[in-house]
Amino acid sequence: MRRKLVVANRKMHGTIPGNMAFLEGLLEGTRDYRNSDYVVCLPHPYLYQAQSILTGTHIAWGGQNMSRHESGPYTGSVSPGMLIELGCEYVIIGHSERRTRGQDSDSSVGERFQAATKAGLKPIFCMGETLEEYEQGLTDLVTIRQLNAVIQQVGIKNLAKGILAYEPVWAIGTGKAASPEHAQAILHFLRGYLILKDPEVGENMRILYGGSLKAHNAAELFSMPDIDGGLIGGASLGTEEFVEICQIASSSKA
Ligand code: PEP
Repeated sequence: MRRKLVVANRKMHGTIPGNMAFLEGLLEGTRDYRNSDYVVCLPHPYLYQAQSILTGTHIAWGGQNMSRHESGPYTGSVSPGMLIELGCEYVIIGHSERRTRGQDSDSSVGERFQAATKAGLKPIFCMGETLEEYEQGLTDLVTIRQLNAVIQQVGIKNLAKGILAYEPVWAIGTGKAASPEHAQAILHFLRGYLILKDPEVGENMRILYGGSLKAHNAAELFSMPDIDGGLIGGASLGTEEFVEICQIASSSKA
């Protein structure tokens, strides 16, 4: 039985007082909802604040990206070791907002996945097709290409050290979530592919859905057998809605 995982991707939002209210509200709102795991991915300058507030609690935190290098002349970058020093357990890798700006490629995502696991971080590896690819029926092909780029780099056993997140680009920030049936079909397909490579890895891999997941559609999405939780952007900006999503995940039967 895979535990649900709910991840807040707060993107480039927040202030020190706003984060404090959010994190304290989340701690309070999930206190009695412990059947799921919760992670908050904040902009790097706020990770120290997350560490101060969340250390010793049931909520983990993580970065939204990192360099594959351990140190060096990479102005503006953050190393895996720095995230570890700030208590991060997770890091988002390959988010489409970076891929579509050319900041990430299939192979650079694989390299960073490897660097993250080497440092002891759990990468949340994002993949998903664009609207054009979706309309051309290329979802399977694109997601498998993205997945294979990482498997080739790290091997199937190491893939199990991370989390997968299927995030169709056309659903991110648009308010148009994938239907639960579509999301379930893709996640089932991806899991089946992993099971063929390694049954244990495939069965145990946590695969999240992301893309306009909100409080109003969370119950239906979380009821799907292959959806192990969500990566939440917009709906993680307000404490109340994000807490509600966490509570739904914790109460979910799937
Ligand atoms: C995301 O950025 O990973 C995301 C899923 O955003 P949203 O929930 O706003 O679609």
